[in-house]
Amino acid sequence: MQSSDVIQKFRDTGALLEGHFLLTSGLHSAVYLQCALVLQNPKDAGEFGRSIAEHFQGQNIETVAAPAIGGIVIGHEVARALGARFIWTERQDDRMVLRRGFSVSPGEKVLVVEDVVTTGGSTRQTITALRDLGANVIGAASIIDRSAGKADVGVPRIALAALDVPAVEPSDCEACKRGSAPVKPGSRKE
Ligand SMILES: [Zn+2]
Repeated sequence: MQSSDVIQKFRDTGALLEGHFLLTSGLHSAVYLQCALVLQNPKDAGEFGRSIAEHFQGQNIETVAAPAIGGIVIGHEVARALGARFIWTERQDDRMVLRRGFSVSPGEKVLVVEDVVTTGGSTRQTITALRDLGANVIGAASIIDRSAGKADVGVPRIALAALDVPAVEPSDCEACKRGSAPVKPGSRKE
């Protein structure tokens, strides 16, 4: 999949919103990606999953792990394409943990998959949780990179497309300086 096709799919499904947003990372941006919308058609989700999987063919990935909730749909599709197992981590207090009876074996080769990487925080926390259990984290991937390539998660990382709209600290936000209040996506407030 070309990166322009990926972005077009976000636009076509209404998953790319424009305005003034408060992101999960705490940063503000003029663009918000509502990945649930682009992933609602399993055919599209499968295509994204296969495209990510192509980058990791031949690396004997045994398991794909994703931070919940955002990473679950795409992670599952990547695992399907790689013929791998799929598990997810969940946030508990300030860390990511495996729950629901999920486990990893020492040395197990794992790929971590998210929908969007902004700061890389969720991916890093997932990698830490897996390594603490002895897993061998081979790499990380997302559909979109909105960190301008800067998010360092400590393992090789790929994305299907980059979004070059900046996400900034609230103190640096031009929209805030104009007196606009950011919207937390998911709420209906304009
Ligand atoms: Zn702002």
